Amino acid sequence: MLEKALELLKKYYGYETFKEGQKEIIENILLHKDVLAIMPTGGGKSLCYQIPALMMEGTVIVISPLISLMKDQVDTLQQLGISAAYINSTLSINELKCIMSETKDNKYKLLYVAPERLESENFLELIKNIKVSMIAVDEAHCVSQWGHDFRPSYLKIKSLKGISEEKPIVATFTATATKSVKEDIINLIGLDNYFEIITGFDRENLKFEVIKINKKYPYISKYVEEYRGKSGIIYCLTRKLTDEVYERLIKSGYKTVKYHAGLSDAVRSKNQEDFLYDNADIIVATNAFGMGIDKSDIRYVIHYNMPKNIESYYQEAGRAGRDGEPSDCILLYSPSDIVMNNFLIENSSDSLNKSNDYAKLREMVNYCNTDKCLRKHIINYFDNNYNKENCNNCSNCLSEIQSENITIESQKILSCIYRMGERFGMNVVIDVLKGSNNQRIRSFNFNKISTYGIMKDFNREGLKEIISYLIADGFINITGDKYPVLNISKLGNAVLRGKQEVFIKKVINKKDVIDSKSIIYEKKLFEMLRRKRKEISENLKVPPFVVFSDATLKEMSSKYPLNKEEILNISGVGEIKAERYGDKFIEIIKDYIEKNTGCTGDSPQCTPNALNKDWRER
Ligand code: ADP
Ligand code: MG
Ligand code: ZN
Repeated sequence: MLEKALELLKKYYGYETFKEGQKEIIENILLHKDVLAIMPTGGGKSLCYQIPALMMEGTVIVISPLISLMKDQVDTLQQLGISAAYINSTLSINELKCIMSETKDNKYKLLYVAPERLESENFLELIKNIKVSMIAVDEAHCVSQWGHDFRPSYLKIKSLKGISEEKPIVATFTATATKSVKEDIINLIGLDNYFEIITGFDRENLKFEVIKINKKYPYISKYVEEYRGKSGIIYCLTRKLTDEVYERLIKSGYKTVKYHAGLSDAVRSKNQEDFLYDNADIIVATNAFGMGIDKSDIRYVIHYNMPKNIESYYQEAGRAGRDGEPSDCILLYSPSDIVMNNFLIENSSDSLNKSNDYAKLREMVNYCNTDKCLRKHIINYFDNNYNKENCNNCSNCLSEIQSENITIESQKILSCIYRMGERFGMNVVIDVLKGSNNQRIRSFNFNKISTYGIMKDFNREGLKEIISYLIADGFINITGDKYPVLNISKLGNAVLRGKQEVFIKKVINKKDVIDSKSIIYEKKLFEMLRRKRKEISENLKVPPFVVFSDATLKEMSSKYPLNKEEILNISGVGEIKAERYGDKFIEIIKDYIEKNTGCTGDSPQCTPNALNKDWRER
């Protein structure tokens, strides 16, 4: 049975091996068991019900929560040569009639519907009269009020079991693993005699970084320049910040769109589509964006602000790198993010959950402040045991942290604040430390105090950094209603009295390990193949990642397939795709080789591998 499944994996999807959990799930479905599968984003859940669909008699009904998701999945299946359709509100009456009649004629292996469709008598009548081999529930956590996207119509799924004498099996899939959500899925969807599997939550290809930074935009600007042409999401905490970051990126000429709840539905879906279809490289968004985004080649997710809890963070960051290619998850953290999140919790409608929300926020802050492995921190938060101490792919594991003793500098600053009467903000304190000669300083006679000009050799940014550090670590408090005023805390007093030392952590010697792990490929050729992919995708009106993933194009740019047999050996190229577009890509690769080596690839000395070696050594 499994041999057949492996054969289909190769034939349709072009993959050689199953990912973690896929084999067991398929096996159990074929043994006619219900399934509860909890696998991370990008873990390959779809294939777990699609392959059995090909092996069972009848049609699999797939319950899927979002129209855009349904469309992408059906496009993907059609590109693989698997017959599938969806029924939802975007269809015209005629299209609906046609699909209903083809369903009756057993034309589809998979039929995708939104849960609301289960309330339609017409639809229920239709599926009563066909053979339903399985009900596959995608994003099954939507059945639970404890999850983040509760959809009441998911509760209807339970009644589907009785739709026929032979009771179709029910297979449920989600990436949300909390205990209460799990129990809800089992009880509310009604799983019997089920097989349960929870795969590891680690996403090895994602690099996690926390960067403590006050001025965030310059970082973004440098980063997106370096990653120009790659897809990325920038999450902001508020609509206002989203608008601001968006405007600045547009002004600097980046292909950017934005997404938040303040935009109309039409604008939102247009922007989302531009991002999916690679018409825009960057989407700046609030957390309203992302549910059901299957785009597989998102290379980075940057959080402009610290989000409200680790659950949201891992979900949002996890949208990077579904295709398994190295991708970055970067969190830009500044102490003001705590203030903003506190404000949002304080003003959120339900006061019931407030203390819970604050507790979760504290966990998030701990993540930002830990100097241990970030991956271990996240995975263990979800009760999944991460055994390694060092993942070698997060900002803490990749950097050596050196402590520098800054007690003397701190004493100078604290003493200056004290002599100024603890009545001023950061800028005036810095003026005095630097010995600025302005009217304001003279009018308060600050040019007469002993700390005037005591740190004139420091630049303003350096002083700001030390003061921010003293604030973040509790040596200085901020008070004042209208203007923030610096006060010395108990801890700060201990420093002044020489009873406490201050160390600042400096990150040095950042190494990049993952780059050496990823395959070596011709970047120029890769860009050319991407352009071809875009052209094909426009003709077909499907997103580019539905044609081929980045991972597949990279492998082509490293192995140079020159005929059908060779292209079938590239991961992600199945028979139908090789048939449909293989030649178009082979043509570009041939051309490229010829132009760059003057060789046609036909003579024995010109095998792709030989070329590969030459080029690597260039
Ligand atoms: P999920 O729904 O769990 O987030 P998907 O089903 O969308 O994940 O799959 C994520 C990506 O992994 C897709 O690009 C898919 O083609 C790819 N994938 C799935 N199974 C395999 C496999 N066995 N080998 C390689 N890639 C796979
Ligand atoms: Mg999925
Ligand atoms: Zn690590």
